Amino acid sequence: MNINMENLKFEELNLSDEIKRAIADMGFEQPSPIQAKAIPYILEGRDIIGQAQTGTGKTAAFGIPVLERIDANDKSLQALVLCPTRELAIQVAGEIRKLAKYTHDIKSLPVYGGQPIDRQIKALKKGVQIVIGTPGRVMDHMKRRTLKMDNVKMIVLDEADEMLDMGFREDIETILEAMPSNRQTTFFSATMPKAILDLTKKYQKNPELVKVVRKELTVPNIQQFYIETKQKAKLEVLSRLIDVYNPKLSVVFCNTKRKVDELVGELQARGYFADALHGDLKQAQRDNVMAKFRSGTIEILVATDVAARGIDVDDVECVFNYDIPQDDEYYVHRIGRTGRAGRTGRAFSFVSGKEIYKLRDIKKYTKTKIVRHDIPSLSDVEE
Ligand code: ADP
Ligand code: MG
Repeated sequence: MNINMENLKFEELNLSDEIKRAIADMGFEQPSPIQAKAIPYILEGRDIIGQAQTGTGKTAAFGIPVLERIDANDKSLQALVLCPTRELAIQVAGEIRKLAKYTHDIKSLPVYGGQPIDRQIKALKKGVQIVIGTPGRVMDHMKRRTLKMDNVKMIVLDEADEMLDMGFREDIETILEAMPSNRQTTFFSATMPKAILDLTKKYQKNPELVKVVRKELTVPNIQQFYIETKQKAKLEVLSRLIDVYNPKLSVVFCNTKRKVDELVGELQARGYFADALHGDLKQAQRDNVMAKFRSGTIEILVATDVAARGIDVDDVECVFNYDIPQDDEYYVHRIGRTGRAGRTGRAFSFVSGKEIYKLRDIKKYTKTKIVRHDIPSLSDVEE
């Protein structure tokens, strides 16, 4: 992670000893720029919009001050974090749990669709102060009165741009309207489209825009390549690149679920440890695939865009755009799966002669270089 605020330390952020110890255990030495800027405002109770690209530590930027602001003696729901996908809700909940390692009397819980609601209801009944949820499931619990908003003092919209893209606007507004009006409202987002500014006007009070942007939209420690290849040669090209670079973990993006399943079959037939992640899988299957990917039992995750949004696995060394994304923004999200936490990553985009123009658009949009890469010859592949 690139730290700009050279001398700022976690010690200077007025954090409790419990949180500082947890941060140290997580191996964070210094706050990232978005953390350094956002944490003081949130601790003060201010509404903010935190804008920073993927992989810059936005989760802890809200997770740390949320934990600090919870009243441990009050067992009611005090903070709600909304995330666009189940995977993200689980991931954010995991990070908050790590940050809460030494604050034993603060309980948090992820709630998301696909997991039996009864299990969540039972867990909620024990008293949960922080809920991390997807909008649909949160609404469901609100209707059942198993989540009560009366004492909520903070709401965080994580990946707000993605939630709006995915059509959650109405749900988000319903949830915001159900909360006490004196709550603190914070938005985190990689981009700042008009739809977010609209929400800001309607639901935030005197918000501070906390922005950490570099000139380029993509993370600089990702080397970006494109490879010109025919459709029917893609499998061979992918195999050779994997054999040459030998990434610990990699994510391969296809534009359709069918393509994902097809490619997984082909990779498995060639002896690779590959598996699929897409929206047709049951929640338990998706959790299972992600757990195996994290532990390295699966080395190649083949995914569609929606399924892979926000997934944060540190050891992803290569991202492959097996199909070039339909949308420039997706390109940024996809390649953001690698080069995390300051590591170097490589992103390869496969394009046919006809698709080169799409690459030009992406280069213009991201203002970065995407370098031509030759198809590795068989002699490059180590025996
Ligand atoms: P974002 O939400 O901005 O995409 P994340 O919150 O998922 O980013 O963080 C990306 C990675 O960086 C995670 O693995 C996280 O644990 C790590 N990270 C966060 N803050 C720090 C820090 N201050 N120092 C080192 N690593 C950090
Ligand atoms: Mg995030």
